[in-house]
Amino acid sequence: MVPPTTSPPTATPSTPAPPRARQRRGEGQWALGYREPLNPNERSKKDDDPLNVRARIETIYAPGGFASIDPADLRGRFRWYGLYTQRKPGIDGGRTATLAPEELDDEHFMLRVRIDGGRLTTAQLALIGELSQTYARDTADITDRQNVQYHWIRIEDVPTLWERLEAAGLTTMEACGDSPRVVLGSPLAGIAEDEVLDGGPAIDEILRRYIGDPRFSNLPRKFKTAISGLPDVAHEVHDVAFVGVVHPEHGPGFDLWVGGGLSTNPMIAKRLGAWIPLDEVPDVWEGVISVFRDYGYRRLRNRARLKFLVADWGAEKFRQVLEDEYLNRKLIDGPAPEVPEVARDHVGVHRQKDGLFAVGAAPIAGRVSGSTLVEVAKAVERAGSNRVRLTPQQKLVVLDVPEAEVDGLRADLAALGLPTEPSPWRRGVMACTGLEFCKLAIVETKARAAELVTALEARLADVVAGVAAPISVHLNGCPNSCARIQTADIGLKGQIVTDGDGRQVEGFQVHLGGGLGLDAGFGRKLRGHKVTAAELPEYVERVVRHYLAGRDGGERFAQ
Ligand code: SF4
Repeated sequence: MVPPTTSPPTATPSTPAPPRARQRRGEGQWALGYREPLNPNERSKKDDDPLNVRARIETIYAPGGFASIDPADLRGRFRWYGLYTQRKPGIDGGRTATLAPEELDDEHFMLRVRIDGGRLTTAQLALIGELSQTYARDTADITDRQNVQYHWIRIEDVPTLWERLEAAGLTTMEACGDSPRVVLGSPLAGIAEDEVLDGGPAIDEILRRYIGDPRFSNLPRKFKTAISGLPDVAHEVHDVAFVGVVHPEHGPGFDLWVGGGLSTNPMIAKRLGAWIPLDEVPDVWEGVISVFRDYGYRRLRNRARLKFLVADWGAEKFRQVLEDEYLNRKLIDGPAPEVPEVARDHVGVHRQKDGLFAVGAAPIAGRVSGSTLVEVAKAVERAGSNRVRLTPQQKLVVLDVPEAEVDGLRADLAALGLPTEPSPWRRGVMACTGLEFCKLAIVETKARAAELVTALEARLADVVAGVAAPISVHLNGCPNSCARIQTADIGLKGQIVTDGDGRQVEGFQVHLGGGLGLDAGFGRKLRGHKVTAAELPEYVERVVRHYLAGRDGGERFAQ
């Protein structure tokens, strides 16, 4: 590849230029000399470190109100602190692509609180709930990245929210933006009987060293990390993942994966074949994110995720660059982790290795409320625990429950709308934010997921006993994949479709047979396979009955 400063050879009019191979345009990689921004996003990050926007929020925008906000901060740098404007109410999904950003902006914000590893104390959970009651109209969604999202936040209240969250050890820093986002971890880290090792200390060290570090606040795009001693965090679709594995000579450690991701052009991450001991995870993480920062593509936003670089280089070259240019040593070769037959979702009652119990409960598609979270915190403390974990499946797990308290806690959670023995449909459904609040959305998702669960519980009551593992149904409000539709048994991508009467209505493109673990792969998009939102319950019922009738023994959905 030729740096942009190189002049192209010229040819005289009388001498035709010799044929030559067509050169690829530069991808804007810093390491190859492309330091001048090639698009407005890169320009904005170069003009001012996005982390600097916090001071302006505290001193200018919060006192001055929404009208005082510089648009470059509003639709750019605010994300580095977990802030997005939410969708103006009443704009239907058919108009999403036709309106300018400022026409879609409400004057309220979504605020994402990063909860690395999904780990919360009851005091933190209660605080998150109380802040929602006071500042977020009682909204709170558990996301599939173990975060909590508020809505209806006013810019005037943001400094107070930060002050109170940070006093409790929580932050919104780098919850969004082209930055190192929340680190996923096993909800059962440190307590699962079968985990290889606890990744928690590595997560803590990465947060301590690198979150808010200006060396990593200008990445080509977002950077998603998962670290788990169990294969329970969708590691296959992360930019970097460390998955527990036992090395035959060196013992417990992690297998290193890079370059996974969904959205358009979904890709499964590649194993680098390297075994990483726990105390080296932060250094190796720094090496991988540095490769991304320096060699990642910055010219086009839709090619800027690490997966495109890994796809072009391959695992071997990526490992070689990581070792030779960033770590200055060779990594130890290691084996692949064991693959679970069925994706693990932590719902129900599980014995911990110390004899206490973990109790997992299922809101529908992560939707709870501030009031519910406050009451959950009280119920957990009544049961003698003070630890809760959020899961990558939009669920919630209470840790450290004595056996004598399990039934009482389960009853309390059920009374709060959080059953611990949910139907397979409730258990398997996930949904992104969707039309209610997301400016990119084309269709409604959260309320639709709730309707779908209710409908399937009635329509499929006769076959529940025959469903051994939950059949996952994931709903996205647009072609992005915030709810990981390509990895679901039934993935639903929101779009406008034509109904039987020729009307343009909300509906979904269907993807069937995606999965992680043993069935890692993306669901097949069936051409012309579209369903209107109104037909959805009937359609899913038909697919499930067809699968149950046609499966061979214990055959899983994706097989
Ligand atoms: Fe918004 Fe689309 Fe993501 Fe859903 S998938 S939250 S609609 S960007």
